[in-house]
Amino acid sequence: MFVLIVPPIAKPSEPLIGAYSLARLLRQQGTDCTIIDSNLAWLYHRIWGRNLHRISKRRQSTQGPSIDNRVHRAISHVQEHNPLLESRTYKVRDRYAQAVEHMNVALRLSNGTQQDEEPGLADFRVRGSRPLVRKDLLAYAGRKRTVFDSYVVQELLPQIHSLQPNVIGFSLTFLHQVYATVRVASMIRLNYPGIRLVLGGALIDCWQGADWNQPPFDLFDGVVPFKALRRQTGKNMTGFPTDLPLDQGFLIDPVDLPKQRFLAPQNIFPMAFGLGCAWGRCTFCPDYQSHPYQPPATNNWLHHLEQLVSKCSPFVLHLTDSCAPPNYLDQLAHAIHERGWPVRWYAFVRLSRALLAPGRLELWAKGGCGMLQFGQETAAEGLLKKMRKGISIPCAAEILKKSSEMGIRNYVYLLFGFPGETEMDQLQTTQFVLQHQNYIHFLNNAIFNLPKHSPIASNPQGFDIQQLRSFPGEDSDLSLYLDFQDASGSARQRARIFLQRTFLSEPAIHRRVQALPPVFKSNHAIFADWAV
Ligand code: SF4
Repeated sequence: MFVLIVPPIAKPSEPLIGAYSLARLLRQQGTDCTIIDSNLAWLYHRIWGRNLHRISKRRQSTQGPSIDNRVHRAISHVQEHNPLLESRTYKVRDRYAQAVEHMNVALRLSNGTQQDEEPGLADFRVRGSRPLVRKDLLAYAGRKRTVFDSYVVQELLPQIHSLQPNVIGFSLTFLHQVYATVRVASMIRLNYPGIRLVLGGALIDCWQGADWNQPPFDLFDGVVPFKALRRQTGKNMTGFPTDLPLDQGFLIDPVDLPKQRFLAPQNIFPMAFGLGCAWGRCTFCPDYQSHPYQPPATNNWLHHLEQLVSKCSPFVLHLTDSCAPPNYLDQLAHAIHERGWPVRWYAFVRLSRALLAPGRLELWAKGGCGMLQFGQETAAEGLLKKMRKGISIPCAAEILKKSSEMGIRNYVYLLFGFPGETEMDQLQTTQFVLQHQNYIHFLNNAIFNLPKHSPIASNPQGFDIQQLRSFPGEDSDLSLYLDFQDASGSARQRARIFLQRTFLSEPAIHRRVQALPPVFKSNHAIFADWAV
């Protein structure tokens, strides 16, 4: 028996595709596999378990009245019902924001000794500690008590006891899951020393070249990057065959769904057509280097999707491909339209001319497309060339307009602080957003992070970079990003100032940014009625 654990903390709005699709594939290959979504189970334990009122009472006697009032309001609000499961919460932004805030407040109630731990719905921080620093992770794994312990002792360990697995795999996707992963693994190791512990997941692939024999990862009997599964060399580490059919699309199996509901007004199921990115050229992107593009070899995914529809509809399908190929989206939309499936979907697509093919966006709109995510990054043509995005501004404008006119929500990502970015570039982006504000429903701005394993990091001179270095205090093998200076100093700092002083001070832009659902962002945007 193979048990696959999804550790806390990741956005609890849907099953995570990595673990859930792996469980389905393993079972398909004859491996007895059970998934434990500790991410969701820990959240329910903490908010709706028996501890919360006890903690709240203890707090009442030790904290000032203003904190108590806020905490008690939050607790009664979330304990009576779960507002994030109700559609009406998604009609008014303030109501939604308050529901999220109340849940975060309830989550942060400390168990007494763990005052430096700050769990949230989508993040986890330990004050004075970083998940990229080995000694910090080691210290966390060996703590006397943590916010995850009561869940592990009361629920997870008894579950493991009854399942009696030979191997337990941890699926690590986000940095916010690292603390819980090492802590939960240490507790399992202590209680069940005979069970093999294996670590895998998307984050492991980002940590290329990390030394897995060093603490705290020596806690695991094996660390399996996805590449090892592709090369079919994971067998010795996991003890199970790994010749998985990775070319049939990636979907969940409804038998794996936990009994508690994910936090959304309707089920959201992730699905990916293939692996990697069909474009695979952006100079700041590390993804396509570790996953060469592999589209589905057959249309089996359509057959699996049909089964999911027959058992679980209606639902929202979250296409998780880094860049969903338009021809597969055509097939999906066609099937939904023809067969009348009650399924809506959203996907990341590139702003390429292919989207303007006659009838394509029309087909998507009538075939369930509720939202498109576009990584536009900038509206400065020179920067787009340096990024090798392969998109043109007039084409981007045309797609946004047409898509919006079809009733599709446009979710646009912008990046500020790319090496060599000038104020003129920043102003061009501002102008673009202002000119096309009516076709942009959500605007997600980020400050550029330079990934350590990106083409830019391999050729800094080609991008005006004069200094490239690790961020202070980060272990070099676990760090994901590098700090840099271009000819004018810190591009990131310039970007921060521009965003605050100029970009976000434009009321129309501010409104598009405010339209983002707090915390859950794109994961709940398709439900957010206030944006349309
Ligand atoms: S940024 Fe997106 S489109 Fe560009 S290579 Fe990476 S995944 Fe593909």
